[in-house]
Amino acid sequence: MFNIYGRFCYWNFQVSRQSGFAFLCSEIKRVRVVRRADGYGDQFCIDVERTEQFIPTGKAIGIDVGLNHFYTDSDGNTIPNPRYLRKSEKALKRLQKRISRKKKGSSNRKKASNKLGRKHLKVSRQRKDFAVKTALCAVKSNDFVAYEELQVRNMVKNHKLAKSISDAGWDQFAQWLQYFGKIYGKTLIAVAPQYTSQDCSTCGNTVKKSLSIRTHICSCGAVLDRDHNASLNILAKGLKQAGITLNTVGHTEINAWGQTDLYSLVAASTSKSTD
Ligand SMILES: [Zn+2]
Repeated sequence: MFNIYGRFCYWNFQVSRQSGFAFLCSEIKRVRVVRRADGYGDQFCIDVERTEQFIPTGKAIGIDVGLNHFYTDSDGNTIPNPRYLRKSEKALKRLQKRISRKKKGSSNRKKASNKLGRKHLKVSRQRKDFAVKTALCAVKSNDFVAYEELQVRNMVKNHKLAKSISDAGWDQFAQWLQYFGKIYGKTLIAVAPQYTSQDCSTCGNTVKKSLSIRTHICSCGAVLDRDHNASLNILAKGLKQAGITLNTVGHTEINAWGQTDLYSLVAASTSKSTD
């Protein structure tokens, strides 16, 4: 029995401290007992090389993460933001208040803070679950995924956005993208975020806009959702970075590509990277 996360992940058991657990497996490299708010868990670190069959899809996408949607891809699809923390905020505040009302050092205070810990744990597990599933889906349905390399730590310095940004869990999502990319033999490219939202994905001109402007309107005639425009730029940047060059320079070529062309380009690049 191995869990889906394979090599670097742990097989988690939620077992009570008393229940003994006999396990016959020579593959176990390390066992840790981890204490969490909801009890003790044993982590068995198993050294298994996990690989899945490469199933080509002939598709390449760029992903733009944002606060309006969790991400928008270069096909214009959006994944809604789950905002777990925001949803649980009221409950967390209530639990926090309850702690402060209890006497310091009392067992009631301990109980109350344990309850708060459990709630936080639940939120973080939901966030991880969402990151894993979303990343797996993106990797499985594409051969090439380009995404923005975001400096979440720098962005969190902006206090207004801080809560939403750390809530979104983009860095966790990016880590899972890379992980699944390796397992499924797909090409994952992180690109620098500069100019991805300001440049026009059709003509390459710069169209300055503040965060509140949600539509990209360019003099070349391009009118599309701000994040969709950004994801097209991210895809173009990613392909360039990966060395997948087009015969003519220009962003428009991406939209003009046929599936077969794209497939051969992506397939060539993925076979290079897995050799
Ligand atoms: Zn334009």
